[in-house]
Amino acid sequence: MVTIHIHDKSFIPYISEEEIIKKVKQLAETINNDYKSKRPLFISVLNGSFMFSADLFKHLTIEAEICFIKLASYKGTKSSGQVITAIGLDTDITGRNIIILEDIIDTGKTLNQFLPQVYNQQPSSLKIAVLLNKPEATVHPVKIDYTCFSIPNKFVLGYGLDYNGLGRNLSQLYQLKED
Ligand code: 5GP
Ligand code: MG
Repeated sequence: MVTIHIHDKSFIPYISEEEIIKKVKQLAETINNDYKSKRPLFISVLNGSFMFSADLFKHLTIEAEICFIKLASYKGTKSSGQVITAIGLDTDITGRNIIILEDIIDTGKTLNQFLPQVYNQQPSSLKIAVLLNKPEATVHPVKIDYTCFSIPNKFVLGYGLDYNGLGRNLSQLYQLKED
């Protein structure tokens, strides 16, 4: 097994690129069926979701739009508990069919803080699609409509997700190695 080292921590391979792409394609097919003629507007939550969003979007065959917001709550390998909006929503979502794209749901705090802003603008529908969900870490429950992988409460990295800025470029997912 190839261990990688980022900053002061070691990580071991967790979910392969092949497995990720297979799930993301399946999700795209589901959305293609669920949103025929609905022209969904995806809201991708940066930074972590950029790779997931790009791969999902490539496999959509229906008419769809995408926009980006930037929320952040993590410092190192722990949630700071504080959610900062670094780039807000600049697109009119009233009456639109919205699908929020998140890399990972951990405590649920980030989405719980953002969702009221979305509901305030009265979209015609709202669903949430995530690459990863950590059900054991939930503090603020969020109803998730599409999940690629449910994972245990361990820190992961790669495929867009970082550890203090690094590791986003890795094409597969890694998990923190316990010492
Ligand atoms: P929440 O607000 O649900 O606690 O945290 C959500 C955000 O924290 C995610 O969008 C992600 O940016 C970050 N996060 C949560 N768990 C992990 C993890 O295991 N690894 C990495 N790299 N980021 C995480
Ligand atoms: Mg995120």
